[in-house]
Amino acid sequence: MSEAAPAPTAELPPLTPGTLYLVATPIGNLEDITLRALRVLRECDVVAAEDTRHSARLLQHYGIRKPLISCFKFNEARRSEAILERLARGEKVALVTDAGSPGISDPGERVVRAARAAGYRVEAVPGPCALVAALTVSGLPTDEFHFVGFLPHKSGARRKRLEALGGVPGTLVLYESPFRIQRLLEELAEVCPEREVVLARELTKKFEEVLRGRPAELLERARQRPLKGEFVVLVSGPAHPACPSPEDSVA
Ligand code: SAM
Repeated sequence: MSEAAPAPTAELPPLTPGTLYLVATPIGNLEDITLRALRVLRECDVVAAEDTRHSARLLQHYGIRKPLISCFKFNEARRSEAILERLARGEKVALVTDAGSPGISDPGERVVRAARAAGYRVEAVPGPCALVAALTVSGLPTDEFHFVGFLPHKSGARRKRLEALGGVPGTLVLYESPFRIQRLLEELAEVCPEREVVLARELTKKFEEVLRGRPAELLERARQRPLKGEFVVLVSGPAHPACPSPEDSVA
C-alpha cells in the first residue's frame, strides 16, 4: 500500500542550525526555482552570494529580504572562514551563485570542503544546472557523459586538453563564453571534424535554441549569423556514429 501524501497543512521541518545549504537558482527563467529553495532562502540567517547585487535582485523578485555576504572565486578561501564562524554560532547559511548549481564551474567547492572538514552539515537544495538541461535536450547519449566545464584560455593548453578528451567515452559537455564559441568550433573542426556537435543556447530563455551538426557546419552558420548568448557545447563520444555530412543526405 502506498503512503498517503502529506496533508497540505502539515508543518514543514525547520532548517537545521549550523547547516550550509547549497541552493540552486534559475539559469534564465525566474520560474525555475524550487519551493524548497525559496523556503531555505526565506528561513536562512544569511545568503552567501557570488554577486550580492545580482542575488539581491533575485531575492527581491520573490519578496525575500535577507542579509547578503559575498563569496566569489577570489575571496572564497577567506570567506570560507567567515562562513565557518557563522555555522559555529548555529546560523543557517544559504550559498547561491549567479545562476544554476553552486560548485559547478562556480564558487562552492572550497566552502563545502572547509565546512565538511570542520564537521558541519552540508545540504544540497537541487535545481537548475545548465549542463543537465543541455544534455537532456541535446539528443546525444545521456547514459555516459563527461563534464569538462570551461577549457583553459591559452591556445596550446586548449588544444592539448581537446586532444586528450578525444578518447574519453560518452558525450562531452563543455561550458564556453560567447566570446570564444567561434574559436571553440574552429578547434573542434580541426581536432574532431566528424563528431556531432550540439550548441544549447540561451536555455530556459526567450531565444532558447538547439543547433546541431559537424563543427564546420556550425562554424559556417556562425559566420552568417554571429552566435550570441550563453552556450553549452556538447560533443558526441567516440563510439557515436559520425555525424552525417549534408552531402550524405543528397539523393
Ligand atoms: N553553475 C552554473 C550551472 O549550474 O550550470 C554554471 C555557471 S558557469 C559560470 C556559466 C556557464 O554555464 C555559461 O558560460 C554557459 O556555458 C552555461 N550556462 C549558464 N546558463 C546557461 C543558459 N541559460 N543556456 C546555456 N548555457 C548556460
